[in-house]
Amino acid sequence: MTTEEMRWDLTHLVEFDDPAWIEERMSAAVKESESFRDKYRGKIESFNAQQIKDLLESIDEFRLRYEGPFKYASLSYSADNTTDVNKKLYDRSQTSYMMMGQNLAFIDIELGKLLTKNPDIINDSAVAEYKHYLERIQRKSPHFLSEEEEQIIIIKDRNGIQALWNLFNDWLSTRTFKIEVDGEMKEMSYGEITGLYQSPNRDLRKRAMEVVFGTLGKDHLLWSSALKAINADHVQMTKLRKWDSPMTQSLIDNDVDEETIQALMNTIEKNVGMVRDYLKLKAKVMGLDILGNWDLSAPLPNVPDKKWNWNEAKELVVNAYTDFDYEVGTWIKEMYDKRHLDAEVRSGKRSGAFCSTWFNGKSAYILQSYNERIGDIYTSAHELGHAMHAYLGTRAQKPSNYEIGSCVAETGSIFGELLLTEKLLSKVESKEGKQEILAIVLDEFVAAAYQVSARVFFEQSIYDAIEKNKLLDGEAISKLWVEARDRIFGDAVEWIPEDKWWWTMKLHFYIPNYRFYNYPYVYAQLFVFAMYKLYKEQGKDFVPKLKNLLAAGSSKSPRQLAAEIGFDITKEDFWQKGIDQFSEFVDMFKDTL
Ligand SMILES: [Zn+2]
Repeated sequence: MTTEEMRWDLTHLVEFDDPAWIEERMSAAVKESESFRDKYRGKIESFNAQQIKDLLESIDEFRLRYEGPFKYASLSYSADNTTDVNKKLYDRSQTSYMMMGQNLAFIDIELGKLLTKNPDIINDSAVAEYKHYLERIQRKSPHFLSEEEEQIIIIKDRNGIQALWNLFNDWLSTRTFKIEVDGEMKEMSYGEITGLYQSPNRDLRKRAMEVVFGTLGKDHLLWSSALKAINADHVQMTKLRKWDSPMTQSLIDNDVDEETIQALMNTIEKNVGMVRDYLKLKAKVMGLDILGNWDLSAPLPNVPDKKWNWNEAKELVVNAYTDFDYEVGTWIKEMYDKRHLDAEVRSGKRSGAFCSTWFNGKSAYILQSYNERIGDIYTSAHELGHAMHAYLGTRAQKPSNYEIGSCVAETGSIFGELLLTEKLLSKVESKEGKQEILAIVLDEFVAAAYQVSARVFFEQSIYDAIEKNKLLDGEAISKLWVEARDRIFGDAVEWIPEDKWWWTMKLHFYIPNYRFYNYPYVYAQLFVFAMYKLYKEQGKDFVPKLKNLLAAGSSKSPRQLAAEIGFDITKEDFWQKGIDQFSEFVDMFKDTL
């Protein structure tokens, strides 16, 4: 293994690996978006079905034509944000994107007006391929206001919510935290100290949380005002835009309906006992009477201290996917062979991991920092699951039909993690090794399905309080958080008192126009567990079903996608299957004791 093998090759994305050529392509893209605007603006409302089809096809072709240079700019910047060339290209790409967005914004608005006037046009065979794309515009358009009002909203948000978001980021990134590590007093940034939450040292994990939550909670006066303003603004916008409830905007964005999310959340609440039992079991394995909140995602003691080199990890992951399906296995292998993964650990590289679909190449690029830990193999398997989704979707769909909402986006990735789990369990022989793997899967489920559900309840309770004109100061918001948290965890977890300030640092609550970011995580986790259960029951017969679902991209709604596999996601029975799979993993964990 050389380090070059762990560095991605971006030259496939461009005809010439030359910054001047790439900048020239970006200018050309902006110019072409201007020509679109000049050619179509004000005309779409009177289009017939064939003209709509031609318009959408030419927009798709336009997107494909310039995808490579833009992707090159954003990926090189994530891989190394220290060079002037990368900074300049990235900056240029962002400005160009914004200009193209402005030039093309009229298309959806005019299509919306056309569909309101002539809703039947959606059933014309000429636009059959774009039917669901148009249905999504149709669902959004009754909530658009006049062009002048929309302009005022943009200005209001820029100087209001956007400013609070910037303030939040500046605040969090300039906080420092004092903590004693190995007898030495250290001063750490937020990013550094939160890294200690995963420490094998239990006392250090707890102290890190006490310091972070305690320090940030001191500014609760500031953040309760901000949170209240952001949510009160959303309640007002809900009325102005005639959304049914504060959740409607996110339901439209995620292409799901309230009935489905209600069934999902009811299922979670009915099964809180299951998660509490697992947490009590984990406490026992850790030799504790009760788990502290600082133990929730902590590693188990006595886990094997094994390192996995890049080639071992590659073999494991490729085999896990090949066992599932031969064709998928060849794609995963191709990702490695063509060097579409950047896994080298180096400075100047973005933290975390992501997978970016490369539509024109019918492939994807992945970034992660590989540290030879078992968690890093899980990250590879997760991101390669997104790549599987990309390989299938780009072969079957046009770009407009591959705008996947948050509920469906994690299907391939979480499924891939379960395929890796199966492979690892078949290889690891020691009891501690099996426990380590199962705890990774179970802890993630607890975090994504249950912990995040508490945030759904919390967000709902804030809107209720605003509607009822209740006082919402720091202490009142904390009370709502503690109630929501306890609805899930009950007496199964002991919390540090400072946890009541958790909401002051949860960045999602401060992101503009991003209300109810939370339930899609719950959806994805339960949906994939239910799919995995089906795979275990049906074996190879299930494989084409999952492949078809992923290949459909956003050309069908999540409800329709599930219906084609024979499920009704508006029913609690369906979501219960996800919980049942969780319970099977808990039983496997019990068997190792
Ligand atoms: Zn993901």
